[in-house]
Amino acid sequence: MGAITAGLQDSRERIRKACETAGRAPASVDLLAVSKTFPADAVREAHAAGQHRFGESYLQEALAKQTELADLDLEWHFIGPIQSNKTRPIAEHFSWVHGVDRLKIAQRLADARPDGMLPLNVCIQVNISGEDSKHGVAPDETLSLAKEVAALPRLRLRGFMCIPQTSDDPEEQRKPFRRMRELFDQARAAGLPIDTLSMGMSGDIEAAVLEGATLVRVGTAIFGRRNYDKETTP
Ligand SMILES: *Cc1c(COP(=O)(O)O)cnc(C)c1O
Repeated sequence: MGAITAGLQDSRERIRKACETAGRAPASVDLLAVSKTFPADAVREAHAAGQHRFGESYLQEALAKQTELADLDLEWHFIGPIQSNKTRPIAEHFSWVHGVDRLKIAQRLADARPDGMLPLNVCIQVNISGEDSKHGVAPDETLSLAKEVAALPRLRLRGFMCIPQTSDDPEEQRKPFRRMRELFDQARAAGLPIDTLSMGMSGDIEAAVLEGATLVRVGTAIFGRRNYDKETTP
């Protein structure tokens, strides 16, 4: 078995066990394989092992990979920060966007989404740990932004996404995810038909699933360690 196939199996098993602990159905959590910095062949191996959804953070790299893999039926998610001058290619080449954190970006994506395509699925990124360096809307501004994004044409608001401050302590890991879950429940109670909590990465899959993640974004645990130099070059 290849290393990527083994990494996928291991990640799926971690999700399954966490679901069991939480009393959740395993099918209630989807796995997004984060393939940034890895070549098209790595995506091919993951696809052969049954993986369908892939996340990318760097636009040029993602578009090149999509071209190379055009023979496969894959679902592409843009999970990186969104620059306003990149909204058109993102709206044209992805099924999902996870990092929307202001109305202007959402409007540009809505304007650029081609009419012939399905609506672009959108998650609003929440700065749940309140870190200066992180992207994301403040928790107390999330609901009003969600309502505005939900009203835009050619977009479908699916839910919220976060990248919390990292911690090695499983209990600490759960706290920001729990706050995300509360925001999610509030938004649903306010009538927003959202269904997605995009949270949890290689180091905190379990904590995220225990607190209600519906989509975990996993890179390192599937593909191995990323080349740092490559990652810092957009
Ligand atoms: C890179 C990245 C991931 C994957 O992180 P790992 O720790 O390698 O699993 C998940 N989400 C986002 C937004 C990322 O940029």
